[in-house]
Amino acid sequence: MADPSSLIRGEIRSIAPYNAGLTLEEVRATYRVDTIAKLGSNENPLGPSPALRRLFSDIGELARLYPDPQGRALCARLADSLGVNADQMILGNGSEDLIGVICRSVVRPGDTVATLYPSFPLHEDYTTLMGGRVERVPVTEDLTVDMPALLAAAARKPRMLMFSNPMNPVGCWLTPDAMAQVAAALDAETLLVVDEAYAEYAAGDDYPSAIDMLNGKDIPWVVLRTFSKAYGLAGLRIGYGVVSDSGLCDFFNRARTPFNTNAIAQASAIAALDDPDHLARSVAAALGERERMKTALAAAGYRIAPSKGNFLFVDVGRDASELNLALLARGVIVKPWKQPGFESFIRVSIGAPEENDHFLRALGEAEAG
Ligand SMILES: *Cc1c(COP(=O)(O)O)cnc(C)c1O
Repeated sequence: MADPSSLIRGEIRSIAPYNAGLTLEEVRATYRVDTIAKLGSNENPLGPSPALRRLFSDIGELARLYPDPQGRALCARLADSLGVNADQMILGNGSEDLIGVICRSVVRPGDTVATLYPSFPLHEDYTTLMGGRVERVPVTEDLTVDMPALLAAAARKPRMLMFSNPMNPVGCWLTPDAMAQVAAALDAETLLVVDEAYAEYAAGDDYPSAIDMLNGKDIPWVVLRTFSKAYGLAGLRIGYGVVSDSGLCDFFNRARTPFNTNAIAQASAIAALDDPDHLARSVAAALGERERMKTALAAAGYRIAPSKGNFLFVDVGRDASELNLALLARGVIVKPWKQPGFESFIRVSIGAPEENDHFLRALGEAEAG
């Protein structure tokens, strides 16, 4: 048979397979460990609100019918709490779906998309898929956002400027002042996409709500959020975007599949919004454990990036893939970073206290052995 790769567009052949975290089953089968600390995918150890249990006992009717293709109940609810119009809202099968929708809508062959580096791989991959060119703005030596370089990239008028804030995998962030400078450097030629997957963990004085800051400004923008992280719904796949204006949002809606978010995910997201106490508990637990982990890792001599997320980016001072195998053998899943220049880093999620202890113990053993 002829080589099937000749059928495939060059852009797709140039994208590496997505480096998804290992599942519990894979690690159990390969490493024959009983207790596993799953700290590779930034999931919430508390899981979803208990309100979802009631919902799931009544799931038959939700499963039988097609969902609302616009997710109107959820969009209305979100728009109300965010202070925007419902016609500025778009739902995605996870926010990563929306990264794809935006790139499909906007990026033409040869267009430049600027992003922070090390990057969330999908910001780069969907750009590459559309034939766009990725321009990376690396973090500084001390693992913070390089603002002069980011402003210079913005001034070159890329088709799109897309980055996460707080930044995944590093954890550093743009302050309100920095975000204002970025917005001021842009005009109608560039779509600004701020991926706020970790906004609930970061909320506070030193962190801008990009929605409040950008709404009404005369530039095109999208802010992405997700229910996968602080709301504990990673397995249900639901996220949303807030778009600068309804016209642009309408075009993005044409570029997604009509039923991209399922009925169970839509109903679950509403139930999650109905339980703000669970969100507050999840965030408080993550921030407390993040500080405890940071202190323990710093005491052991590791270099750690500043983080406003539910994860830490840690320089282990040697090839992280090797350390990763030693951790897996001890039942711990983290993410060894593979992008050039950062191969000595792992990103470790903040888990439940016993998972974090499991990680710290395994790390000590792996380093000693
Ligand atoms: C986790 C993550 C996402 C993906 O979230 P989903 O809603 O689960 O698709 C998007 N962007 C960033 C930066 C993330 O870390």
